[in-house]
Amino acid sequence: MKKFYDIHMHAFNLSHPNILAFISRLNWRLLFMTTPVSAPVMTLFGWDKKIKNLLTMLENDLGNYFLVLEYYLRQSPFIRHNYIGYGSESMWTNQYHKMVICPLIMDFGYKNILSNSFYRVPAQKPIVEQTRDLMAGIEFYNRNTLRVISDGEKKPLKTSYEPAEKSDKLFEIYPFLGLNTVNYTLKSIVSILDEYFADYDGKLQTLYDNMGGRAGFSGIKLYPPLGFDPWPDDSMEREKVEYLYSYCTKKQIPITTHCSDGGFAVCDEAKEFTNPARWRRVLENYPELKINFAHMGKQSKKKFILFSQSAWAKEVLALITQYPNAYADFSCTAFDDKFYRELAQLIEEYPQIKEKILFGTDFMVNLLWCDSYNDYLETFCRTEHLNRTDKDLLCSANPERFLFNS
Ligand SMILES: [Zn+2]
Repeated sequence: MKKFYDIHMHAFNLSHPNILAFISRLNWRLLFMTTPVSAPVMTLFGWDKKIKNLLTMLENDLGNYFLVLEYYLRQSPFIRHNYIGYGSESMWTNQYHKMVICPLIMDFGYKNILSNSFYRVPAQKPIVEQTRDLMAGIEFYNRNTLRVISDGEKKPLKTSYEPAEKSDKLFEIYPFLGLNTVNYTLKSIVSILDEYFADYDGKLQTLYDNMGGRAGFSGIKLYPPLGFDPWPDDSMEREKVEYLYSYCTKKQIPITTHCSDGGFAVCDEAKEFTNPARWRRVLENYPELKINFAHMGKQSKKKFILFSQSAWAKEVLALITQYPNAYADFSCTAFDDKFYRELAQLIEEYPQIKEKILFGTDFMVNLLWCDSYNDYLETFCRTEHLNRTDKDLLCSANPERFLFNS
């Protein structure tokens, strides 16, 4: 039975990001959140509602985060028990058993933060803690189901847990490890990869079984705006990334790299490092590398007509056409039917990329632009711009090939 894949989503809570580093970049959205004068402006644009919605998810521990997500998805007309489907209301033309979600851990460790306050030691955010929280969250999710006991319109919902079987859950969760080579010595990188990927064989079943006891990851997330340079000039830094690329090529471990000019930026070189052209040298040297360019190279200032106006998007198109294992996901871009109309035009123009595009949501980051996971998923299920065969490639066949070498 086929599965439905969300190749790009997030599961972290308020304790994980380096908020100080974020504020120091004066991100306007966060400024809106933190200054009292901004409240009326936010209300005017509906941002207060959006941010509260986002915080409601962000303040959960990760076990509850997955349970809440599942509880609401089960109310979608496109989901019945553990099946996801679309087509006509009465007859599903494409049907999937279970939903695979890939939460991407971000390596928020950032050691270059300059502060003129009393406690000047930069905040320590090791990925170990985030990893532990995520694995505990997955465990909790796999063993429980959320029940809503009372649902009074104006009162907070009352909830409880019921024990559940793993086989009865909607999600199968395959996390990606966030790694910023700048934060580690080569020796630590060798041991991190060894710790989390020694048993990796790219087979679906083995990875699923591994999720029980020890931490297992299905891929690696890179995030250039946090200071990761895909191809550094410095020879020591280069050695680290080359170790990573050759390790991933050898074991066919998939990498997802952030590739839009939006998002959580903390370093001056954010744009330069994120530019997909920076990956050309990497792919010339490691042409078999399995890599996914997240957000398809979207640039916010360019009018978002896919690929025709954004230099980054054009570069992504060139890379995924040229290299056999290069992909692009459309997380955080597919908010309305118009997006799918443009995607369909693009596929018509370049039919070969049909096999290279992946469905992704970027949940919960995408809550700044849509209401819910349901919303984002249903826009995909409903669109008539893509036919059923193409839809099936994007949400099932392509991501499965990217993740599991199948
Ligand atoms: Zn993301």
